[in-house]
Amino acid sequence: DDERYTKFVGKEVILPISKKAIKIIADEHVEKEFGTGVVKVTPAHDMNDYEVGLKHNLEFISVFNEKGILNEHCLEFQGLERLEAREKIVTKLESLGFIEKIEEYNNQVGYCYRCNNIVEPYISKQWFVKKEIAQESIEKVALGESKFYPNHWINSFNAWMKDLRDWCISRQLWWGHQIPVYYCECSHEWASQHTPKTCPKCQSQNFKQDEDVLDTWFSSGLWAMSTLGWGNENWGKDKIWSEKDLKDFYPNSLLITGFDILFFWVARMMFQ
Ligand SMILES: [Zn+2]
Ligand SMILES: [Zn+2]
Repeated sequence: DDERYTKFVGKEVILPISKKAIKIIADEHVEKEFGTGVVKVTPAHDMNDYEVGLKHNLEFISVFNEKGILNEHCLEFQGLERLEAREKIVTKLESLGFIEKIEEYNNQVGYCYRCNNIVEPYISKQWFVKKEIAQESIEKVALGESKFYPNHWINSFNAWMKDLRDWCISRQLWWGHQIPVYYCECSHEWASQHTPKTCPKCQSQNFKQDEDVLDTWFSSGLWAMSTLGWGNENWGKDKIWSEKDLKDFYPNSLLITGFDILFFWVARMMFQ
């Protein structure tokens, strides 16, 4: 509803360097008062733009790989690191006479907590747990089968559970429980509780386990069982745990914990 631009909606603009035509759409995601009120949408590299892209059926073009190196969509800039490329692209736009003015403004950018690098949203394949898995625990809490002390923390629990999304449980890290999914050379894929010796379909030994690891909260959710011997096979048996521990102490009747992990840990344990 920005009448300054309604006449352009549905037409196309040409991206200056790549000469690619992109269609002009109208969406309430854009702040009319900010800058020109017009913005380029990058569905593959921004969370808001991703939603807009889905809504308007836009193309999802990833322009760099998982290391941040520009790919074949980037013409002469292919092979450059994304931050390095930014300056070069601006210089090129200037030389072609496409830059009207450059203004400084504050923007919210995500940084990596370890290396302080700027984080780029990037479309990738991940493992998710369906949010419906939480339904039973929501119902049981509503029936009073789990109690919170002080009682008002039930509101925090319910608020989290009301806004559930599918839970992304895979991470691309070195440390963690590796996802128990296996891929065979025969293209069979399967999940297994135990480390398999051969492919169940073709008996080949040439298969590999998914390289991703579980979200730390998924692993933490196993705590209740794993401290009682579950999954240890014979390791530590009769020294630090005994066979009847799991039966004696699980499910537990009391959990003392911090309110800040009520959702991340406690709720996840309840629905795991
Ligand atoms: Zn980092
Ligand atoms: Zn196989």
